[in-house]
Amino acid sequence: MMLEVRDLKVHFDVSRRGRGRTVVQAVNEVSLHLERGEALGLVGESGSGKSTVGKAILQLVSPNAGSIRVGGEEMTRPDRERETRLRRTAQMVFQDPHSSLNPRMTIMRSVAEPLILHTRLRGQAMRARVAELLGIVGLPQHFQFRYPHELSGGQKQRVCIARAIALDPDLLILDEPTSALDVSVQAQILEFLRSLQQDRGLSYLFISHNLAVVRHLCNRVAVMYLGRIVEEGPTEEVFRSPQHPYTRALLGAVPLPQARQPLAGDPLTGDIPSPVDLPPGCSFASRCPQAIQGLCDRRAPDDFVRGPGHRARCHLHDPARA
Ligand code: SF4
Repeated sequence: MMLEVRDLKVHFDVSRRGRGRTVVQAVNEVSLHLERGEALGLVGESGSGKSTVGKAILQLVSPNAGSIRVGGEEMTRPDRERETRLRRTAQMVFQDPHSSLNPRMTIMRSVAEPLILHTRLRGQAMRARVAELLGIVGLPQHFQFRYPHELSGGQKQRVCIARAIALDPDLLILDEPTSALDVSVQAQILEFLRSLQQDRGLSYLFISHNLAVVRHLCNRVAVMYLGRIVEEGPTEEVFRSPQHPYTRALLGAVPLPQARQPLAGDPLTGDIPSPVDLPPGCSFASRCPQAIQGLCDRRAPDDFVRGPGHRARCHLHDPARA
């Protein structure tokens, strides 16, 4: 298995002196897995904790609890050697290519950086590898002498992807990689990411707020709400038959040109609870059109199996209620 995350918990202490303890519960009991060559979409609104999951996998934030295995190796609190192996195995592409590239570095230098840090390639061999990487991401060779401000947004994101694959990783964590780009460029980058995955047998954890994008690229999808995965399943199954009211609402909010039948999503109203003070019951209860009074606001739902590889965290699917 490429990636296995179990019961991941990431809380941030944002207390200010003299104002008591304030803890943001960004991620709670998140479990997910990813087979080699598979693409898993992690979707949810901004603030759902999806980016924090990606950063925790790459040790860019420290988990409070849980386990993370990458390529079969425990990475929850890696020593230096394991962290080096993690950098080779897994890389991340961020949303904003503008701030991901150092404006004072040439493209050659930016793409070469991981090679300098983690390999012994130098001189001509390193320049040849940078040229090869630019070729893979479809950029002309003379771009290596340019600076980021001389490139378009889409070209900069291709440079970021070239840098991410420089060490030949098996896993790419793509955090909203197209949302800072023009719509026409988004489609090109998505198509490129799809062929890159097929050509190189990469595994993708694709983080996005956009379900339509995830449908285009991912075999499976996991939907996050306020730090928890509320539904997970094969992409087509989740789109055809969403089981959680939040997923249904999300699907109602996006155009689905290829849907066999239109899904009437329930519109989302109501306040989103603060991740500093989560309610005792289901976190979605304040916005859920199907909330069961006296139950949903008091008791957090379990995860219920809804089909092969398909599960939803909602009291509506509790067989004990039938
Ligand atoms: Fe809605 Fe209740 Fe299901 Fe939560 S558990 S999604 S409030 S029905």
